[in-house]
Amino acid sequence: MKIAKSVNRLGTEAVYTIFAKTKKLIKQGKEIIDLSLGQSDFKSPQHVIDAAIKALKDGHHGYTLPNGMIECREAVSRKIKSLYKADIDPERIIIMPGGKPTMHYAISFFGEPGAEIVYPDPGFPIYKSMINFTGAKAISYNMTENKDFLINPDKILSSINEKTRLLILNNPHNPTGGFTEKNVIDRFVNGLKNFPNLVILSDEIYDRLIFDNKEIPTLLNYPDLYDRLIILNGWSKTYAMTGWRLGWSVWPEKLIEHVFKFCVNSHSCVNTPAQYGAIAALDKPENHLKDMMKEFTIRRKLIVDGLRSLKGVECSLPGGSFFVFPNVKGTGMNGEKFTEKCLLEAGVAMVPGTAFGKFATDHVRFNFATSRENISKAIEKIDKMLK
Ligand code: PMP
Repeated sequence: MKIAKSVNRLGTEAVYTIFAKTKKLIKQGKEIIDLSLGQSDFKSPQHVIDAAIKALKDGHHGYTLPNGMIECREAVSRKIKSLYKADIDPERIIIMPGGKPTMHYAISFFGEPGAEIVYPDPGFPIYKSMINFTGAKAISYNMTENKDFLINPDKILSSINEKTRLLILNNPHNPTGGFTEKNVIDRFVNGLKNFPNLVILSDEIYDRLIFDNKEIPTLLNYPDLYDRLIILNGWSKTYAMTGWRLGWSVWPEKLIEHVFKFCVNSHSCVNTPAQYGAIAALDKPENHLKDMMKEFTIRRKLIVDGLRSLKGVECSLPGGSFFVFPNVKGTGMNGEKFTEKCLLEAGVAMVPGTAFGKFATDHVRFNFATSRENISKAIEKIDKMLK
């Protein structure tokens, strides 16, 4: 058997290895508090579940258009209008099986040998994996340079040259929880004027998980970018629907026919009952989101205070997402050693910073979308381990 070289260049998400290891330990009878996977312990909203079940009962089990049901695309368009006051034609919206396919497609469209793609490090591992897969050169910018993990427009823009085709931005940011505000994004967008051929992929999957009543400076608010802007978003995080596999994306008009063909060539369409659930999620009141953010705010404080109380651990307050990304260098261990010891000795699962890139060897990522009890217990166990 001879497989294509590009397949060997694909990376992965180390979190799944940790997930499997954790499951194995639990099966062996070990008590593990799992703060590794990036998902919420909240249930999907009941009205979303009801809408999907009703769709099935009503016989909506067939294919939909590859770019998504028009009703679903219109619901996304309405939501964008109500949240961000931006007018996006539903024909520019594509419903995807999750947020991830948008990055897979976008990077496939612009990556090839000779091209360069700029991405955040640490960052969601699939950016680099997919860039390598296409044969393009992966050019990273460092997200750990300042302690609050903020976007540095000058640094990012300085890495662009005539070979750069695509620039990836992620705000709020996984794995750091960093949230960059509008004044900085304004500067970044202004700087983009110098690179009119550059396409931007803005991963805004955590757009509604922002603390302290702040709002995302979505790139949808910069219409001058529309002919070279791809927005990645979806239902996974906002509505606690990671396993439903539902995402939405906005594309430049010129790319729509290509995205349509990619959908036809890969998944045909997104699960039909799930799309009915997706419409309900967008159109119905969002009390669950308010409750979730209220709870996440309490948990954020609990975990940050707890981590700061540990000897040798430094921790910034995340502005968005449900991740904290402490530096554990002061414990005498790097992130990988710390992770291994915590899992095997303290029974707490997390992800080492190296799972997200080369600039995070001293960091680890915790997901705090879990009960307060779990968070307190995890801190206690690590504290004991460090003593
Ligand atoms: N982008 C980022 C930054 C993410 O953290 C994730 C999920 N962890 C995704 C995209 C993909 O989302 P989905 O699960 O909907 O594919």
